Amino acid sequence: MAADTARVMSGEVKTESVSLSPLGAAAAPEQELLCIFGTGDLGRSLGQRLLHTGYRVVYGSRRPHSCGPLPQGAQVLSHAAAAQSASLVFICVHREHYDFLETLAPQLKGKVLVDVSNNLRKNLYPEANAEYLQRLIPGASVVKAFNTLSAWGLQNGPSDANRQVFLCGDSAEAKQAVAELATRLGFSVLDRGSLSAARELEDFPLQLFPQWRLPLCLAMGLAAFFFFYVLIGDVVHTYVKQGKDNSFRIMVSLANKVFPIVSLIMLSLCYLPGVLASFLQLYRGTKYRRFPDWLDRWMLCRKQLGLVALGFAFLHVLYTLIIPIRHYVRYKATAHSVSLIKENKTAVFDTTLAWRTDSYYSVGILGFGLYILLGITSLPSVSNALSWREFSFIQSKLGYLTLFFCTLHTYLYGWDKFLRSSYYKWWTPPAHMLSLVVPSVVLLLKLLLLLPCVDRRVTRIRQGWERTEPREENNKPLIS
Ligand code: NAP
Repeated sequence: MAADTARVMSGEVKTESVSLSPLGAAAAPEQELLCIFGTGDLGRSLGQRLLHTGYRVVYGSRRPHSCGPLPQGAQVLSHAAAAQSASLVFICVHREHYDFLETLAPQLKGKVLVDVSNNLRKNLYPEANAEYLQRLIPGASVVKAFNTLSAWGLQNGPSDANRQVFLCGDSAEAKQAVAELATRLGFSVLDRGSLSAARELEDFPLQLFPQWRLPLCLAMGLAAFFFFYVLIGDVVHTYVKQGKDNSFRIMVSLANKVFPIVSLIMLSLCYLPGVLASFLQLYRGTKYRRFPDWLDRWMLCRKQLGLVALGFAFLHVLYTLIIPIRHYVRYKATAHSVSLIKENKTAVFDTTLAWRTDSYYSVGILGFGLYILLGITSLPSVSNALSWREFSFIQSKLGYLTLFFCTLHTYLYGWDKFLRSSYYKWWTPPAHMLSLVVPSVVLLLKLLLLLPCVDRRVTRIRQGWERTEPREENNKPLIS
């Protein structure tokens, strides 16, 4: 046993005789001895964190004499010896190497085994790693935990990284022991239930912005479509028809046309699924039938849709702010003034134009202000401080008001352009006109839902009322 034991001091591994029984016997409750199998990245970081928190740590390693520097104060033994010394063992080994644990079943019997493992991709194995571990050592209580933290996060502590530890397992006592340990390490614990939830926890670190994928793809698709649309209308058309090179407009003018269009469409797409869901409930006469999957998925990513829309609105504001310093704009303004002076003319003040531009800017600023409010209240730290009623007032009522202001802003920008044929390049409508289709439809549908008779029916359905009797239903008026 003595030959097995190594002690690590000052980052150097030095072997020394250690008797195991005193380790366990002398352990004060605050100096509980914990075991870690595996001296790799996670094992080391976890060991360091445990030692800093006041635990004693013994490593179980294949190579107790040559496993390299370990956190100061930790001991290293063979797997069998280390397993016997502690009641809780962290398995910081990749699942591919779990086979060796089967031979340690007698030593691990009755122990709590914490499975921290992750896989390289989803569904790599037929069962979750933690369930596989439980099958290998049925006498132990396996708890899946800590796998959503990184070695880096553990090393730096919860103040500088993810604070959440998810855990699951079939033994309540084992989960309680791991939860207390995680809490002492400074993490907040979220119990996800029995060991059958292990696969979900193992898939968690493999996720790559799952709820952002659809909004980002949509934003990219819309941006690409409208960029080529305005490129053809503003640059190619001018070149073909007038032989004029307008390509410099690509960098600012075209970008500043595409960003608000994408932003407005994305904002209206945040509110469209809610409106569709209300109409579906009205049609079905119940709220207890599931929405189609596509509608569910769409509703789940509304926050991300809104935040991407806000990002594009920000870009629009920034690009608008730089308009006065653009060379093209300064040149046009100077040339206009010079021509007026040369012709000894005075420009006539156009009150209608002044009203139009002021209203356009004012409504745009109001819309953007509310947009920011929506973005801020979608942050978890802010939304957690709001009651459900406050949150839904901002996100729904003020949200529709934001959509209304932004749509009005676009209508004011268009003004009477839809009446002028010169704006229909190659018989296609201007891009801003296309961008008004979805928001106008959403606002119109919302107006219909706000009609008192419709609103009453939707409210009743949301409160649990159902149109269950088909024969009776035929005799009843559609809207009570
Ligand atoms: P690692 O650096 O490769 O270390 C794994 C350790 O397992 C090795 O140091 C070795 O320790 C032991 N080992 C290797 N081959 C073995 C074998 N054939 N039989 C028995 N033991 C063997 O890996 P890691 O990054 O620490 O990850 C360990 C586990 O934690 C993995 O399941 C991983 O998915 C999970 N995890 C890692 C992180 C992270 O940030 N690294 C985050 C979350 C979860 P000895 O030489 O001492 O035996």
